[in-house]
Amino acid sequence: MGRKAEFEGNVSFDECSKEEYIKQMDDLLASHGLLEKFVYNTEIWNTVTGDDGLFVIKLDEDNIVKAKNVIVSVGRMGKPNKPGYKFPRAIRPRLNFNLSNVCNGEKVMIVGGGDTAGEYAYGLVELEDMQDCTVTLNYRKPTITRMNPMNTEMTTKYLDNGKLINKMGVDVEGVEVDGDPGEERVKVNFTDGTSEVYERVVYALGGTSPVDFLVNSKIDVGRWDEPLMDEKTMETNIKGLYTIGDVVTDQGSIALAFNHASYVMNDIVAKNK
Ligand SMILES: Cc1cc2nc3c(=O)[nH]c(=O)nc-3n(C[C@H](O)[C@H](O)[C@H](O)COP(=O)(O)OP(=O)(O)OC[C@H]3O[C@@H](n4cnc5c(N)ncnc54)[C@H](O)[C@@H]3O)c2cc1C
Repeated sequence: MGRKAEFEGNVSFDECSKEEYIKQMDDLLASHGLLEKFVYNTEIWNTVTGDDGLFVIKLDEDNIVKAKNVIVSVGRMGKPNKPGYKFPRAIRPRLNFNLSNVCNGEKVMIVGGGDTAGEYAYGLVELEDMQDCTVTLNYRKPTITRMNPMNTEMTTKYLDNGKLINKMGVDVEGVEVDGDPGEERVKVNFTDGTSEVYERVVYALGGTSPVDFLVNSKIDVGRWDEPLMDEKTMETNIKGLYTIGDVVTDQGSIALAFNHASYVMNDIVAKNK
């Protein structure tokens, strides 16, 4: 976006592809013995303090983690923005908010006009193991106005050469089930009266504050349901409970999230001296 990312802590990365970035981070975590400490595929609902003053994080019925400090960095995509129309139950598995369920060979439509929509659309066109997909980009406006220059260039390139099917300048009115039970597809009805059947529709409409998580954790929130915290330390109204990254800002930057983490660690270290 033309903004220079200044890293203030010990962790940084060089500009690279998403895959290279994930590898860099995995290597870094592994080299510090942290990678195996991640608990994946586990949703937590809140974090509250127990009688002993430690935070309790419930992983499932049988497992809890206790911690002296907690950093909430749940982002915003746990609560993605959804369109106003209903999602019929039979096709809900085919209506997604990221690319993780897309299979090679599918006819996919990406909905949205921002950077995420652009990156999903041209990313899918470029992914080596998704070369048999047919990808359409749908945006209610006729031209790209909200993407950064690089994403605009990439998306435009594939729209122009036909690798990305252009369904811009028209909104989706609703979706309905097409096909027999067990073989349901998504029939998309557009506001110009046209319809098209897709195997998958991916909405890239951004996300909102995970206010339930914050309120259940007794974190004070502001006017836009954003968590309130001390901007120097990232500590919330609850001592030892911090919040960082996308959940506190809509500017969405890895460098910013890393810097937030650095402020927290400095505060924790200072308090434990
Ligand atoms: C398509 C796209 C491209 C981007 N490109 C760039 C880029 O090039 N450069 C850049 O700097 N930034 C980029 N960003 C922004 C960047 O990804 C974010 O700013 C950054 O990931 C924020 O990190 P985070 O940890 O705050 O949140 P996230 O990365 O969103 O991580 C939050 C994590 O918490 C998990 N979670 C949520 N709720 C719960 C729960 N209740 N229990 C357990 N886990 C939960 C989520 O599953 C997720 O794994 C991009 C974002 C998108 C969507």
